[in-house]
Amino acid sequence: LVALLLSGLLIVFTIFCFYYIIHTIIQQKKLTELKDDFINNMTHELKTPIATITVAIEGLQKYNALNDPEKTQRYLQTSRNELTRLNDLVGKVLNVAAFENKEVRLNKERVDIDELVNDLVASETLKTDKKVNVSYDNKGSIKYIEADKLHLRNVLANIIDNAIKYCDEPVDININLYKHNNNAVFSIKDNGIGIPTAHVKHIFDKFHRVPTGNVHNVKGTGLGLNYVKYIVQAHGGNVSVKSEPGAGSEFIITLPLKNG
Ligand code: ADP
Repeated sequence: LVALLLSGLLIVFTIFCFYYIIHTIIQQKKLTELKDDFINNMTHELKTPIATITVAIEGLQKYNALNDPEKTQRYLQTSRNELTRLNDLVGKVLNVAAFENKEVRLNKERVDIDELVNDLVASETLKTDKKVNVSYDNKGSIKYIEADKLHLRNVLANIIDNAIKYCDEPVDININLYKHNNNAVFSIKDNGIGIPTAHVKHIFDKFHRVPTGNVHNVKGTGLGLNYVKYIVQAHGGNVSVKSEPGAGSEFIITLPLKNG
């Protein structure tokens, strides 16, 4: 009986070891794939703006566009847009590096939320060539939110950026802000391509992107939503998403309100 028991245990142990090894190999493979995707995407994300700026500067030099104010303006605007993109990208990567070293410290202050959202919406809609309609309704008449202003702005910017990126024109974004259980709740809805159900629960993981190809061909890093989650949680809040392919997405951000 003891021998039977021991061999039973041995079998269980062997199965467990196999499972563990296979699981580790799969995880490792997934990580390698994620890393490869990330490097490919980053290469594209870095090369594209640099190439565009180079062409714009060459244009200014070669064709003596400086004598043509309209052309000059166009080249300069293009360079500026691309530099903003590069700056955003570098910021995202540096932010992730900072989280890994636990270096992010929040500088909380009383943030005038209408001012922040209206200003952000104005600059986000200027940044894109797509036709974008954004509505903002502060249903809870919330005046201030205790938050790190820069990070809160970046969080909302990431969600709005994505709404624009993963939508065909015309892009419709509805931002609603209301109070619930002493929290400020943002609902940010878009009419975009949506997220396949199997990916919804991974969407906030670092480097996770819905595979391109037949779904969309938008380049990115897979870092934005990981940043969003980190910052929202650092504020004591929570972020979630409801989405279906073809039916748009709704991101819900909950942030504690200090004084109700
Ligand atoms: P990135 O946009 O750089 O890939 P994010 O972390 O911001 O990285 O987003 C992760 C992934 O989630 C995206 O690659 C995309 O597949 C999906 N996604 C995010 N927001 C949306 C959205 N509003 N609509 C559809 N898909 C989205």
